[in-house]
Amino acid sequence: MTRSKRRSDSPMMPEDGSRKAVHAYWIHQKVNNASSVTGYFILPSCICSNCGNYVTSERDRCPKCRAVMDAVPKK
Ligand SMILES: [Zn+2]
Repeated sequence: MTRSKRRSDSPMMPEDGSRKAVHAYWIHQKVNNASSVTGYFILPSCICSNCGNYVTSERDRCPKCRAVMDAVPKK
């Protein structure tokens, strides 16, 4: 007999329900490079649009301000 454990925990839901999650996005830094087709390279490192925190690679949430990085950048 097998028992299946049902878990209803969602990774997208904040532990503290009273605090509204901040939505932000990563701003990638560009470096001009003549050898590139587009004329520049987009670095894997980026900064948080909410608090300006610098990270070396994209994450689901900002490690500093805990913003959820699912916002769409304005053009
Ligand atoms: Zn941040």
